[in-house]
Amino acid sequence: MFRRLFHVTALTLFAFFFIALSSRAQTENSTAFSDLGVEYQFGESFTFSATITTENPVDAINLTLRQPEGGSSIVLEVDADLFGNISKTYEIEAKDHFAPFTMIEYWFTASTENGTQIQSEKATFTYADNRYTWQSLDDADGYSVYWVEGDLAFGQSVKDAIYNHFDQFNQYIDLPTPETLRIYLYPTTSALQSALDLTNARWVGGHADPIEGIILASIPAGFDQALEVKRQIPHEIVHVQLYLAMQENYANLPSWFSEGLASLAEQHTSSEYQPILQAGWDNQEIIPFEKLCQSFPTSSDQAALAYAQVDSFTRYLFTNYGKIGLESLLEAYTSGHTCENGVSTALGTDLQTLQANWETATLDTTQANGLSTEAAAWLVLLVLLLALPTGVIILQNNRKNPNATNPANN
Ligand SMILES: [Zn+2]
Repeated sequence: MFRRLFHVTALTLFAFFFIALSSRAQTENSTAFSDLGVEYQFGESFTFSATITTENPVDAINLTLRQPEGGSSIVLEVDADLFGNISKTYEIEAKDHFAPFTMIEYWFTASTENGTQIQSEKATFTYADNRYTWQSLDDADGYSVYWVEGDLAFGQSVKDAIYNHFDQFNQYIDLPTPETLRIYLYPTTSALQSALDLTNARWVGGHADPIEGIILASIPAGFDQALEVKRQIPHEIVHVQLYLAMQENYANLPSWFSEGLASLAEQHTSSEYQPILQAGWDNQEIIPFEKLCQSFPTSSDQAALAYAQVDSFTRYLFTNYGKIGLESLLEAYTSGHTCENGVSTALGTDLQTLQANWETATLDTTQANGLSTEAAAWLVLLVLLLALPTGVIILQNNRKNPNATNPANN
C-alpha cells in the first residue's frame, strides 16, 4: 500500500515538474518571436517579417507557409540580422496554387545552439487580389459582395440574385442554405482567369471554392450585365450548397450532375445552349455522360457542348423523375455510389439508357419523321379504301354510257 502511494506521489510530482517545465518553455517560445507581419503583391511575391530575441545564439530559422485547405506547405530558410530582425521575400510560383481570397497561415521556427526548438505563434492573413480596389456591400446577413467596376446598384443586384435563388431553387431540390458567402466580381474574364492562374481552360467565367464559401465571377459592364448576374451567381452558389449537403463526399459528385444542378439554378439560361446542342447532335458529337463523370473537357467547344448537354439532361431528369428523383440521385452519390451506380440505384435505369431516352425525347427529330411516315401510310390506305368503291362506280357508269369519258366517239 505504501509502495503504491509512493508511486502515485512520485508520478504526480513528475507530472507537476513536467507541466511546469513545458509551460516555461512555451512562455519562452511564444515571446522569442514578435512583430510577425506580411506584405504581398498578388500573384508576385510575399515579404514576411518578424523579430527574434533569444538568450542563446540561434543556429537556424525557418518560415513555413500553409494554405489550411489543402495544398502543400512551403518551408523556407530565413536569416536574422544582428538585432534579430527577419525579412524574407518569397517569389510566388505558378505551381504554388495560392487560391485567391483564401486564408494563408505562416509561422517561424528556430533552433538555438544549445538544441532548443522555438516556434512562433501561427499567424494568418487573407490572400486578397490586391491588384484591384474592391468596393463592397454591407455583409450583416453573412453574404459579402465585392466588385471592382460599377455602382451600388450592381452590388445590390447580386444580393437580389442570392435571395431569389434561395426562394426559387427548392422547387428542384432541397439544399442547405450557406450561412456565409464571399462573392468577388471581376470586371473581365481575363482578369478572373489571371487570378485563378488558368492557362488551359479559357472558357471559365466563374469559379466557386465551396469549402471556403468563396465565389469568383466575371461580369463585365454592358447590356447583358443584369442577365449575367442572374445566370452566374445562382450557378456558383449551387456548387457551395452541394458541398454543404455532401461535406467530405463532395468529391464523389459526378461533374455532369454538379454542373447540371448548377445550370438548373440559372435564372437566365444561356441562349447559346440550344443551337450548340442541335449542332452537336447533327454532327454526331454528343458526349456520352459517362465521360463527364470526373471532369469537363478543357477545349472551349467541347466544354460548351458539355454544359449545353448537362443543362438539357438535368431538366429532362427533373421533368421525368421530379424533385424526388434529383434528391435520390444526390443521396446515392452522398452515400458513395459511383457515377453509373448512383443512376441505377436512384432511378432504376442505367446512365446509357437514360442518355438514349433523353436523346430520343429532346434531340432525335427522326422520331417525329417516323410518326409522319406512319401517318402517311394510314393516309394512303384510307385513300385506297375510298378510291376503290369510287373506281368501281365510275367503271360501272362508263359501261352504262361508253361515251361519257370519250365524247369524241359521239
Ligand atoms: Zn459550375
